[in-house]
Amino acid sequence: MSPTVLKSPAEIDVMDEANRIIRTILRDLRGIVRPGVTTLEMDRFAEERILSEGGVPAFKGYPHRNDGRDFPGTICSSLNGEVVHGVPSENVRLEEGDIISVDLGVRYKGYYGDSAETFPVGTVSEEADRLMAVTRQALNLGIAQVRPDGRVSDIGHAVQSHVEANGFSVVREFVGHGIGSELHEEPQVPNFGKPGRGTRLAPGMVLAIEPMVNAGGADVMISADDGWTARTRDGSLSAHFEVSVAVTETGYRVLGEPTPGKE
Ligand code: MG
Ligand code: MG
Repeated sequence: MSPTVLKSPAEIDVMDEANRIIRTILRDLRGIVRPGVTTLEMDRFAEERILSEGGVPAFKGYPHRNDGRDFPGTICSSLNGEVVHGVPSENVRLEEGDIISVDLGVRYKGYYGDSAETFPVGTVSEEADRLMAVTRQALNLGIAQVRPDGRVSDIGHAVQSHVEANGFSVVREFVGHGIGSELHEEPQVPNFGKPGRGTRLAPGMVLAIEPMVNAGGADVMISADDGWTARTRDGSLSAHFEVSVAVTETGYRVLGEPTPGKE
């Protein structure tokens, strides 16, 4: 992972644009998600939109950590018990009652944006609804911890506390991260831990905060088939929400949305 880099206000404005592209595409993807759509169709939609906005897909070709199987998709599409890094496929067709997590990264004018949402497909179970709501609430509580002189573990502590109070569990194997001219920069931003530890937050830091929450146990496993897809070990549902957040002089700015700090 690249070291932490503080960004200028001008650089943060560019990252805001990058994230606005992503958030707009995610909003429009939510509109096309329905039974019968394949995750490859979603992937094509996202890729065309990124290119038309002058961006470059950030995940496509991302190197595999062990072998040559670089990530083939523009989006990560993780279905139901899949946590993150699901590979878009013409063979994965959405069905009524599914939940689908879409993670989308873009490189734009030399900077990265990274954001994710979990969508319901049609009408979903009460558990799935609650899982998505709790995960989004956990993200918002994590964001609310971002302030100058705060500590990075304050974020994870807020996320974990809310998730576990609701009977769900946070994934440990994957964490949030700094972001800028590299997709993954220091510091790592875990979704768990005691408060008051780790990197001290400073204006100009930009963090991708991204709780991954399982309805059952926290353990995950990686698919041997594609080397990428992480799924819950117990088969329970999983949800994932992510935004990029800049530390400001007075607090935080959620990138890619019109009103800072408001979801
Ligand atoms: Mg992401
Ligand atoms: Mg990320």
